Amino acid sequence: MDFNLSEEQKLIAQSVREIVKDFPPEYWREMDQEHKFPEEFKKAVAKEGYMGMVIPEEYGGEGLGMLEMCITTDALAAGGAGISGIWTIGPTQIFGAVPISKHGNEAQKEKYLPKMAKGELEFCMGLTEPDAGSNTINTSTMAVRDGDEYVINGKKIFITNADRADGMLLITRTTPLDKAPRKIMGITLFLVDLPDPTVEVVPIEKHGLHCVNSCEIFIDNLRVPEENVLGEVDMGLFPLFDVLNPERVGTSAGVIGCGSLALEKAVEYAKEREVFGMPISRHQAIQFPLATAKAKLETAKLMVYKAALLMDKDEECMAETCMAKLMAVEAGEYAVYHAMQTFGGYGYAVEYDVERWWREMNLWRLAPVTQEMTLAMLGQNVMGMGRSY
Ligand SMILES: Cc1cc2nc3c(=O)[nH]c(=O)nc-3n(C[C@H](O)[C@H](O)[C@H](O)COP(=O)(O)OP(=O)(O)OC[C@H]3O[C@@H](n4cnc5c(N)ncnc54)[C@H](O)[C@@H]3O)c2cc1C
Repeated sequence: MDFNLSEEQKLIAQSVREIVKDFPPEYWREMDQEHKFPEEFKKAVAKEGYMGMVIPEEYGGEGLGMLEMCITTDALAAGGAGISGIWTIGPTQIFGAVPISKHGNEAQKEKYLPKMAKGELEFCMGLTEPDAGSNTINTSTMAVRDGDEYVINGKKIFITNADRADGMLLITRTTPLDKAPRKIMGITLFLVDLPDPTVEVVPIEKHGLHCVNSCEIFIDNLRVPEENVLGEVDMGLFPLFDVLNPERVGTSAGVIGCGSLALEKAVEYAKEREVFGMPISRHQAIQFPLATAKAKLETAKLMVYKAALLMDKDEECMAETCMAKLMAVEAGEYAVYHAMQTFGGYGYAVEYDVERWWREMNLWRLAPVTQEMTLAMLGQNVMGMGRSY
């Protein structure tokens, strides 16, 4: 067992941090306050090749794996960008590059991957529906065959980046649930080009992460050629797992990065801030939670990297992915919570950034999969304690 990163992996982390250095806290504050997408940051990241990390070299990418993707998202967030920064690469890499590289046909790869690698084409994923969040089987957006096209109707919700994206991985039903031979069949994935007049995209006002919109989508008779099906008709749930697992692990790395960023700033502050004639860092009520946060973050990171490594080896990783997601979110939240406490009243002031990281952190208990569903998957599928769904 080797816990060391390779020289190339260390270099990735280092060069990502170099890029982030040029984007000070004021930049991220402005993106959040003014609801602006970090366009300049995305350009800088794309210029250095990070938009093509998981894209095979023959399509203009770097041909790297999920471990390198996690190292990158961790370094982006920890280097100063917080979770806001990971939205610049995350949706396109995970919802576009990963499934198309793995399950796309030659024409799909040629159409999408080279542009994604250059940062010229963004993606989003339309999975969640008003009545199908944790329960994907309940998807009701229908794709009905009409000659060599499909006609799609339905509603999606919380689709991040849909208002900017040039393409969407759209999860539909091609066979209604009550007619599917097995519950896990009848779902089909489509690659949909955006914008389209039959696809209305409406941003939702939300609690944090204001630099990117999460949107409602109303699909009204969208016509998609059959060559846009990704993978096999009716069997879409299987390639979908190859998106959901990387999404859970990739975002977990960003969560750890954001927790580490908050922790670093809290430690700096605690060493400088004097109350009752001494730095507050000496008080165990401040020091011990921050030390515990360090231990939790480093432990969670090991599980995130293990899950990513298994993924890269194409080995079973459901249990590790669940545990990585669960522990990363607990560690990240713990770190930001105690960072905020360390800052005292200043933690509540926008100028100190920690309140923004807190708002960013609050998402990950709920998405991309809730903590409860992660526990249910572990309890039911790994530990055999019976099903709740
Ligand atoms: C900001 C944001 C961005 C998002 N981006 C995207 C995106 O880009 N694309 C996309 O497709 N989706 C996206 N989502 C959706 C997200 O993945 C879902 O919100 C999430 O999966 C939970 O679904 P739900 O909100 O419908 O909750 P529900 O499924 O309604 O669950 C409600 C509560 O019940 C609990 N619960 C339900 N069933 C069980 C059970 N069997 N056992 C224990 N507890 C249970 C859940 O854990 C949760 O606490 C995003 C969401 C947000 C908030």
